[in-house]
Amino acid sequence: MQTKNMRILVTGAAGFLGSHLCDALLAEGHTVVGVDNLSTGSLANLEHLRAEPRFDFREQDICLPFEPGAVNFVFNFASPASPVDYMNLGIETLRVGSEGTRNALEIASRYGAGFLHASTSECYGDPKVHPQSEDYWGHVNPIGPRSVYDEAKRFSEALVMAYHRYRGVDTRLVRIFNTYGPRLQFNDGRVISNLMTQALRGEDLTVYGDGSQTRSFCYVSDEIDGILRLARSNEHLPVNIGNPIEWTILECAQEVLAVTGATCQIRYQPLPTDDPLQRRPDITRARTLLGWEPKIDLHTGLSLSLPYFQQSVSATAVQSSSRDQ
Ligand code: UDP
Repeated sequence: MQTKNMRILVTGAAGFLGSHLCDALLAEGHTVVGVDNLSTGSLANLEHLRAEPRFDFREQDICLPFEPGAVNFVFNFASPASPVDYMNLGIETLRVGSEGTRNALEIASRYGAGFLHASTSECYGDPKVHPQSEDYWGHVNPIGPRSVYDEAKRFSEALVMAYHRYRGVDTRLVRIFNTYGPRLQFNDGRVISNLMTQALRGEDLTVYGDGSQTRSFCYVSDEIDGILRLARSNEHLPVNIGNPIEWTILECAQEVLAVTGATCQIRYQPLPTDDPLQRRPDITRARTLLGWEPKIDLHTGLSLSLPYFQQSVSATAVQSSSRDQ
C-alpha cells in the first residue's frame, strides 16, 4: 500500500473498526469509498464525515455483487462481530464471511488492488495452546453456537489465501483480538460495553461463569496502527494484532469500577456455551515484521472511552424518559 493518494474501499465502514479505519485513511490523504448494510454498523459512526469530499458512503450489502469503481486497496471489515450480534445473525454472518468476502476479493482481483481482511482470534476457538501464535491451527467447535462466526472467519481466511495463491491477489490477513474504544456499540453485549454501561447506570456488573476466563484488550488506536502497518507490509500470512496483557474478566470488572468510580455489585451469570477460557496473542510476528507494539494500557484506554460511554448512556436515558412521557 502506498502512503498517499489512493482510492480505497472499506467494507463495514459504519462499524466500530471500519469507521476508525476510514478516519485514519482520510487523515493520510486517501479517498475512501465506505460501504455498509447497516445491519450492525451505525451512520452515527460516520456523521462527522458527512461533509468530507474525499469520503463516499454507500449503503450496500456486500453479499450482493457491487461496483465501487477502480480502487487501489480494499479493507474487508464487514461482519457482525459481537457474540450477541453474530448469534442473532447466524446465516448473515456465514454469508458475509463467504459470499461477501468473495465479492470483495473479486473487486481487488479486477482492479489489481491490495486486500486486507479482518480475521479474528476466534479462529483459535477455545485454545489449547497459550498464548496463541499464528501457526496454531485452533480448537473450534464446528457446530456450536459460535461456529457461525468462527467458521465464517476460518473459511474467509482460506478464501483469501486461495485468491492470493490462484489469482495472485496481494492479500493480508489480520487476526484481531478483543478491541475496544469509542464507537464500540454500547449495547452489543460485549464485555467492555456491558460493564461500562452497567457501571455508569449503577447496575450490577454481569460476570459470566466465575470470571476467571481471560481476554487481552487492545485499545482501538493501537489496533488501527497495527492494521495500517500490516497493509503497508508485504506479509501474506496471518498476523495477530492485539494487546498481549491478559486480564481475567473479574479483573476487568474491577478496572471498570476504578475508571468509572462506580460501586456496583457483581452478578454472576452462566458461562455461555463454548466461551473460550483463555485468550492472549503472541505478537512476536507483529513486533518483528511490523515493528508494532501496543501503547495504551487498559486503564488508560477505558478512561479514553469513558466520555463516549457516558454520552451513549445519557442519550438512551433521555430517549427512554421521553418515551415514558
Ligand atoms: N462476559 C461477561 N459479562 C458480560 C459479557 C461478557 O463476563 O456482560 C464474558 C464472556 O463470557 C467472555 C468475555 O467476557 O468470557 C468476553 O466476551 P465478549 O462477548 O466481549 O467477547 P468474546 O471475546 O467472547 O468474543
